[in-house]
Amino acid sequence: MRTVLEVDGLFDGERVVSNAAIVVADGTIAWAGKRGAVPKTPHGERSELRKAPGRFALPGLINCHAHLTLDGEPNFSAEVRQSDSLAALKAFRNARAALRAGVTTIRDLGANGAMVIDLGRAIDRGLVEGPRLVAAGRGITSTGGHGFEVGRIADGPDEVRKAVREQVHAGAKVVKIFSTGGILGEGAPPDVSQFTLDETTAAVEEAHKAGLRITTHAHGVGGMRIAAEAGVDSIEHATLMDQRTVRDLKERDIPIVPTLCAVHFILENAATLPPVVVERTRAVSERHREGVRLARKAGVRIAAGTDAGSPFNRHERYAVELRLLAECGLSEEEVLTAATSTAAAVIGRENAGHIGAGCDADLVFVNGDPLKDLALLQRPAGVYVRGAAVS
Ligand SMILES: [Zn+2]
Repeated sequence: MRTVLEVDGLFDGERVVSNAAIVVADGTIAWAGKRGAVPKTPHGERSELRKAPGRFALPGLINCHAHLTLDGEPNFSAEVRQSDSLAALKAFRNARAALRAGVTTIRDLGANGAMVIDLGRAIDRGLVEGPRLVAAGRGITSTGGHGFEVGRIADGPDEVRKAVREQVHAGAKVVKIFSTGGILGEGAPPDVSQFTLDETTAAVEEAHKAGLRITTHAHGVGGMRIAAEAGVDSIEHATLMDQRTVRDLKERDIPIVPTLCAVHFILENAATLPPVVVERTRAVSERHREGVRLARKAGVRIAAGTDAGSPFNRHERYAVELRLLAECGLSEEEVLTAATSTAAAVIGRENAGHIGAGCDADLVFVNGDPLKDLALLQRPAGVYVRGAAVS
């Protein structure tokens, strides 16, 4: 049975089509295009014309950077030390909350174990409803490095290799490492480089050997350059970029996921957070936005990710990242591309992030034109995942 959804307009991941129709069959998009041009089926199968839940359709949104096991409690250091069972329950609830907000694919970049990998398997098997998950398992960091509270600590190329293999064996769909210190937790500060070129190269080799992408947490330029030289596939945060690093990333075509929400929600709630976190955040905030502007001008690919799970950064508030990207100079069309087709390319899921034949029937509907008003995505009128409306 084919379902035909008619809309006033759609954004297919790259461009807008007006007076459009989307044909869905077996959880996949069979066809999309102008309403008058819907093809007849070769064997005359019945098509059901269904009212779309909103007047405008987009591909399901993609969050390239989240931590589903975290709710975004103010005390990060305490929350990351929670029990595994509580972490798993939170992951289930947060995945559903994000899905209802239009996020149909989530890349989880680090938990205290395999709970998000397992949740992804349960969703794929249809045991529970949820978005599509691409989970890293445990992030890999160095002794005393950022994220040591939850990460897999590894020093030296051999240990790093083993740490990557452990995540692959556990079922990770992406590898996450930490190239610099960070803002949260008790590890090193943001500008400090962590893994050496040898260690990073070992991680990249192991990830690629397993057919997985590898992404890295990197704030300072030292860590970003080492990661770029070693051949990582993307850079998370990219907070302290300068012209030389931007050029480096552009030359190697390494995309960034700036996670502006992480900084935004910390500053919005500064009064209730530990002074060291707020100081570290204030010190990088302006340069962060300037770096995103530089990257955009230079043509570095930018993908949307929120770092949801960091303090006050809730999984259902993905649309805030879109507004923040627009504030850094991205046009509405560029922002929507960052949230869909570019994000799909960055996480290596080309069937997501597009509305076209053969793509996943993951869709978000709004009542209005999101290219004129991104805020419409704060409250989608409806969400489809695998061709079915989300309950
Ligand atoms: Zn993160």
